[in-house]
Amino acid sequence: MKLLRFRFQDETKFGVIEGNEVVVLEEDFLLSIKRSSSRVSFDEIELLSPVSPSKFICVGLNYMDHANEMKEKLPDEPVLFLKPSTAINHPNYPIYYPPQTKELHYEAELAVVIGKTAKNVMIEDAKNYILGYTCGNDVTARDLQRKDIQWTRSKSFDSFAPIGPWIETEIDPSSLDIKLLLNDEIKQRSNTSNLIFKPDFLVSFISSIMTLLPGDVIMTGTPSGVGPMKVGDSVSVVIENIGTLTNKIE
Ligand code: MG
Repeated sequence: MKLLRFRFQDETKFGVIEGNEVVVLEEDFLLSIKRSSSRVSFDEIELLSPVSPSKFICVGLNYMDHANEMKEKLPDEPVLFLKPSTAINHPNYPIYYPPQTKELHYEAELAVVIGKTAKNVMIEDAKNYILGYTCGNDVTARDLQRKDIQWTRSKSFDSFAPIGPWIETEIDPSSLDIKLLLNDEIKQRSNTSNLIFKPDFLVSFISSIMTLLPGDVIMTGTPSGVGPMKVGDSVSVVIENIGTLTNKIE
């Protein structure tokens, strides 16, 4: 099932994709998945981020190839950082190039969407708390990341957390091809089988620290091949069996 949030005739709505159409849901799919009788065509809607998380919990250095590229030792526990809720961005919306950086980077990531409140969840139970998976771009001001001792500034500008285009609820995340295209050129290519810490482990690990709320998003880390973007570029995160998340730099 592909769940989405969208604008239609100046209203925000929730839906599920069926063929070329969207079946409108009675309410937010985080509350219940009740189909209404109305359907809208895909061409008539404007996609929004499928959820509005209270927080993005992000994992640094979670692909072996990226850890090597950044000349970092492999972590024995996940390295976590947060992006604020205000960094949220939507499919096809602009990512703004802030004047404070000269090195704006993309990071293609598998994003885990939490479906219900999770605290001290066991790894074996983690699946029950995951609503599904979507694409994410952990946009980063790389020069500021290097300069600052921690990563808050470099990761937190408004528009630095695009997610979407929808949540796929029925996939096994253990072996999905993940790619990043910059102006249609492949810049990152890997598979989620190369993740050091897997989604179920991350839900358990993070929920032992902070309560995960419905709609919260875990960004699972990026493979090797991170690199710069410039104003005018089009950037797409493509994950097998999920979809494509595209944004333009402004
Ligand atoms: Mg990242």
